[in-house]
Amino acid sequence: MSEPVPALVAAREDLRALEGYHSPQLDVSVRLNTNESPYPPPAEFVDRWLAELRMAPLNRYPDRGARELRVALGRHLGQPPERLFCANGSNEVLQTLLLSYGGPGRRAAMFEPTYVLHAHIARITGTEVVVGERRADFSIDADAARALVAEQRPTIVFVCSPNNPTGTVEDAATIEALLDATEGLVVVDEAYGEFAPRSALELVRDDRRLVVVRTYSKVWSMAALRLGFAVAPPWVVEQLEQVVLPYHLAVATQIAGRVALELAVEMNDRVGRLVAERERMVASLEGIDRITAFPSGANFVLFKVHGDGHALWRELVERGVLVRDCSGRPRLEDCLRVTVGTPEENDAFLAALRESLREVAA
Ligand code: PMP
Repeated sequence: MSEPVPALVAAREDLRALEGYHSPQLDVSVRLNTNESPYPPPAEFVDRWLAELRMAPLNRYPDRGARELRVALGRHLGQPPERLFCANGSNEVLQTLLLSYGGPGRRAAMFEPTYVLHAHIARITGTEVVVGERRADFSIDADAARALVAEQRPTIVFVCSPNNPTGTVEDAATIEALLDATEGLVVVDEAYGEFAPRSALELVRDDRRLVVVRTYSKVWSMAALRLGFAVAPPWVVEQLEQVVLPYHLAVATQIAGRVALELAVEMNDRVGRLVAERERMVASLEGIDRITAFPSGANFVLFKVHGDGHALWRELVERGVLVRDCSGRPRLEDCLRVTVGTPEENDAFLAALRESLREVAA
């Protein structure tokens, strides 16, 4: 038995009720549970990255403003560097936004079901979470959202598009409606934006309270290197730079982010292949009895089984296939989410699914 923790070293009362971030990392042959790219970065990327890293003065702190990375990324996106904030994965971008604009006495609004870390990081920063519902097709109902925002007056409204875990892509009109309705920030999390037919990037303007968050973890095959960014008005970027820890972005990450952009053509080609595989996956799922697949603009697909979703997840694991079990989440009963992998991985998943369904009662 461990000793009781003395009051002054106990964790904050409001943190004790939090559930951690759960995504089991099981040792299976087909891992389709965390929406990473199934392909490692090109060998050429690794060579160029290491060659530059060897020349970097490792005894010195990295550039605090990540200037070279922001200039290169800005050129790639058609945005001035003043509108870019880079951090350790988009999760750190989200955390810095909440540290800056959330906090005790403030609220963040989000539309469930959505990316669980929006609520989780909000709570860690002492921000109250207010929840709006989605329609049956998982899109945001702009009128209901407007009413929620008017009543709760959040300082941040989160929109995830494509939405994790449903894959839903929001219309520009919904984002515009939210911008009209709120006096706070609208943060559009586009971690999967490159796989979608439309983006909120074009809507960012200096006089608008709109922030678009993106990541190198998916399309750029760099989940291990941790790099994400926000496209935001310069006055937001300045605020985020003040709050984030100095020298938070390692030189290895800054170089990787810049060098990756030199291989944009190859990366776009990969996006095309994954989108084609996604469409094949959706079509295949729709052809399977007792499965309903939801349309997706991301590199994953949410599907519902007519039967016990958790039992199906276990059967898949037994066959060496790991997907995300969403079945225990409110509004996602009996739903699982599968990441689009290589054609071979997707075939293995579909075969395991057909077999597993025979073991799960309808
Ligand atoms: N936003 C969404 C919607 C995500 O799904 C993820 C990854 N699971 C992230 C942000 C965080 O990605 P990263 O920190 O790797 O950039």
